[in-house]
Amino acid sequence: MEDLFFDELKKDIEDAELVLIGLGEEFDPTEKCSVEEFGSFAPVINSEIDAEKADRMTKGLEKLQALIGGKNHFYISTSVNPRINKVFVNDEKFVATCTGAIAFQCPAACLEGYAFGDEEEVKKIVSIRDTKDFQQFGKCPKCGEYRVFNNIYAPKYDEQGYLPMWQKYTKWLEGTVNKKLVIIELGVGFKFPSIIRFPFEKVASYNKKARFYRINGIFSSLTDTISEKGHHVSKNAIEWLELL
Ligand SMILES: [Zn+2]
Repeated sequence: MEDLFFDELKKDIEDAELVLIGLGEEFDPTEKCSVEEFGSFAPVINSEIDAEKADRMTKGLEKLQALIGGKNHFYISTSVNPRINKVFVNDEKFVATCTGAIAFQCPAACLEGYAFGDEEEVKKIVSIRDTKDFQQFGKCPKCGEYRVFNNIYAPKYDEQGYLPMWQKYTKWLEGTVNKKLVIIELGVGFKFPSIIRFPFEKVASYNKKARFYRINGIFSSLTDTISEKGHHVSKNAIEWLELL
C-alpha cells in the first residue's frame, strides 16, 4: 500500500513551532455551471449543487483542523469554493485569496459597491440559476452597475474582502524564519501557483528546519531544492483527508 505519511506528519506537527497549510484547486466544486455562462456566480452554484463533494470536503477539513489543534498556524486557500470559508469562519488565521467571503461587489470594483451576503442569499443564487435573475443583489451606489459575486471571476476582482488577512499572513510568514515549520500543501496545482505553490517551495528551501508535505492527485512531484525535506503523496487532497 502506498505510504500516506500520516505518522510522520503527526510527529512533525508535534515537534513543530508553526504549521503552514495551503489549500488549492482540488477543493474547487465540480464545474457543472460554467464561469462563461454564470460569471462569478458559477462557483457558488456549483458548490451548492455538488453537496456530496462539499460534505466530504468539510468533514476532511475538520479532521485537518483537529490534527493541527492549538498549534500556531496559518491557512491559505486559493480555492474558489465558498464552502471552505464556512469551515474556517471561526479561525482568525485563514485567508482565501480567490473568494474572500460571502459578499457581493461592483463589477467595476468601486469600493462602495462591496456588500456582505449571507446563507439566504447563497440559497437565492442557486434557486434563480435557471432564470439568471442575478440583478436582485442590488446596485453599486457609486456607478449604478448591478452587483456580482465577490471572487476572482468578477469582471474586476475587488480584493478588499481578503487583503487585511493577507497582510496578517505575510507578517506571520516573516516570523517563520529559522523556526521549526511544517508546511502542508493540499491539492495545489498550477492554477494560481504564485500564491501558494511557488512561495511555499521557496520558504521550505530557505528554512533549514522546515518539513514539507505535498498531497496532489496529479502534480505531486517535489523540486530538487526541497526533495530532501519533503514527502509527496499522489492522491487527491480530499481523498487523502478522508483517510486521515
Ligand atoms: Zn461601481
